[in-house]
Amino acid sequence: MIFKQLIVMLSIGSTLMAHPLVDIDVTNINPKQGDAIWIKINASKPIASGTIRLKKKTFKIFKNNRENNQYLTCIGISRYIQTKNTNLSFSFTFADGSTYQTSLPIRIESANFTKEHIKLKPKKYKISQDRSSRKTENRLIGKTFQTTTASKKFSGPFIWPLEGRITSDFGTQRVYNNKPGWSHSGTDISAKLGTPIKASQSGTIALAKSLKVHGNTVMINHGWGIISIYNHLDKINVKINDKISKGDIIGTVGSTGIATGTHLHFGISVQSIRVNPKDWVFDTSTMAL
Ligand SMILES: [Zn+2]
Repeated sequence: MIFKQLIVMLSIGSTLMAHPLVDIDVTNINPKQGDAIWIKINASKPIASGTIRLKKKTFKIFKNNRENNQYLTCIGISRYIQTKNTNLSFSFTFADGSTYQTSLPIRIESANFTKEHIKLKPKKYKISQDRSSRKTENRLIGKTFQTTTASKKFSGPFIWPLEGRITSDFGTQRVYNNKPGWSHSGTDISAKLGTPIKASQSGTIALAKSLKVHGNTVMINHGWGIISIYNHLDKINVKINDKISKGDIIGTVGSTGIATGTHLHFGISVQSIRVNPKDWVFDTSTMAL
């Protein structure tokens, strides 16, 4: 369902002018933690810059080159965000220098994430406690997730990178050897060592690196701040800046880094907010925007 907010900006002044119009379509005003919301903005005149704020996080908007004065974006709802009534705040500066602000009330619901106990073998547990490596790797991955390329490289729904059993869902509260850890930032898919892993969507390789905690890691930039991540690979078949198509083989399943068995950790991030990958492969309606 598309929720529509029509905003009519009345011009004030002695001269009667055409009423500038900003029409905003939002796919979901009642999202859960880990969801993504797609937003379409039709303006009556060119927007020079525009942002959408949800609590402390500011999202960019991107020009749709196929439609005149149309701007699109995707907003990630953090798995940590407080569940409550809040607002999406829109702020636009038009090319003619005029500005406009408005807001749209939304309600964020709980995703009811479950708890998961994980028993790591001493060697893996030791790596998991290596704060320095974790910090360095998180900084590198975090920096890559911040990339917001204006050109759109994705089309249609994302695909599962491989077929296998889902062993851990997005958002589960991890408890490692009875010590509370981070909540799960992606979906784990179990498969045999060496199973080929496909690119979930077309894009450019933003990271291809061997990491101590996250294992052999590939990240793909799909444009508009949407980036997918693949961890614990055995072999990496791609290198940074490679252009790849949806379904291309990027590597093979392994258990490098902190892993209890051979599996793929698959994640999707929207402008630095991790979202539930399941929604991106099952729900294709959002891509129609
Ligand atoms: Zn995982």
